[in-house]
Amino acid sequence: MFLAQEIIRKKRNGLALSREEIQFFVKGITENTVSEGQIAALGMAVYFNDMTMDERIALTTAMRDSGTVLNWDALNLPGPVVDKHSTGGVGDVTSLMLGPMIAACGGFVPMISGRGLGHTGGTLDKFDAIPGYQTEPDSELFRRVVKEVGVAIIGQTGDLVPADKRFYAVRDNTATVESIPLITASILSKKLAAGLDALAMDVKVGSGAFMPTYEASEDLARSIVAVANGAGTRTTALLTDMNQVLASCAGNAVEVREAVDFLTGRYRNPRLYAVTMALCSEMLLLGGLAATQQEAKAKLDAVLDNGRAAEVFGLMVAGLGGPADFVEHYDRYLPTAQIIRPVYAMQTGFAHSMDTRALGMAVVGLGGGRRKPGDALDYSVGLSQVCALGDEITSDTPIAMVHARTEADFELAAAAVREAIVLDDIQPQATPEVYRAIRASDL
Ligand code: URA
Repeated sequence: MFLAQEIIRKKRNGLALSREEIQFFVKGITENTVSEGQIAALGMAVYFNDMTMDERIALTTAMRDSGTVLNWDALNLPGPVVDKHSTGGVGDVTSLMLGPMIAACGGFVPMISGRGLGHTGGTLDKFDAIPGYQTEPDSELFRRVVKEVGVAIIGQTGDLVPADKRFYAVRDNTATVESIPLITASILSKKLAAGLDALAMDVKVGSGAFMPTYEASEDLARSIVAVANGAGTRTTALLTDMNQVLASCAGNAVEVREAVDFLTGRYRNPRLYAVTMALCSEMLLLGGLAATQQEAKAKLDAVLDNGRAAEVFGLMVAGLGGPADFVEHYDRYLPTAQIIRPVYAMQTGFAHSMDTRALGMAVVGLGGGRRKPGDALDYSVGLSQVCALGDEITSDTPIAMVHARTEADFELAAAAVREAIVLDDIQPQATPEVYRAIRASDL
């Protein structure tokens, strides 16, 4: 028999909690038998006193098991169940191509994704820009699309990881979001509840990243790889660059357009290609669908070039209620903003640095993201043709196109874009798209 206050006291005193103590506390979070004050106190004790890897694994698995855990065994899928998760970025449309690419290579991707948070975009909001696409299908439809198409990207269902909903809300109000053990458990409990064989984790680094420094991103990546593998899911993390908008655009409908253009080969932004390919390759390796990086790359390029990945995207959209000819005719379906106009810099030079977070907030300001939970979005707005770091900017080169609802919105966003993109006479050194991988063997 445990007492919540004794568990809090033990953590407050810097001692490691047992698996049973953690399970007891998480059950209390789920069943409302521990109070908000107790949750907050434990969160703060963990914030200051950290958790061992064994504690983190116990917390993650207890939270994972607080609600439904999906199981794919009954479907006899002829390939591994694999997924990717990102800590969030601006113009990070990777999931929209990655899911279909992996499915086209023989993997099964039941991707449960989220809505935009703060300055970062949300995969689910992008799919909501597609008329008819059901981001909250019933579990039967979700399973059928995963089995028949190989990928379904949907939103979180009501009974997945209820412990995280309550714990996260308290953390958000009590300044304990920024705790690596708590972030690890929060992210992984939700991902692992999807019943995955393998996971690739994209931990962003830079001015648009959730973690404040490279070192903090690496600490989180190491924690996630240790805990996920410890919980039985083969996992690799990549540290990828978020010092600039990842795609050429940021918003909802604009990103869906770029994803389809990427899949059909009409336009492939090189940064987006590098990050998407690196994550997909890890997924094929972890899932046993490729033996080497070279083999993975060859398979992925083949499904891009032969149109199979684009076809899978179209089948997923149609399978979840969207238009059957979406890939061919997306312009008939995606909303377009009233005003689409270029923004020019005040000087000439090379694009030297970007406040990527501020660019994400400019999209929020346009109405493409939420200021508070529940806000309605305008899917048409955002930025496109955002310049890349190192680009030469002349007086007639736009640094971005702003897609806005009103003149006033345009002016505000244009000013934010001018301030966020800094020019210099000297061309900056190119930064890598992927800094490094952290695999179980690196720990
Ligand atoms: N995202 C999550 O889902 N949880 C965290 O704790 C932080 C980011």
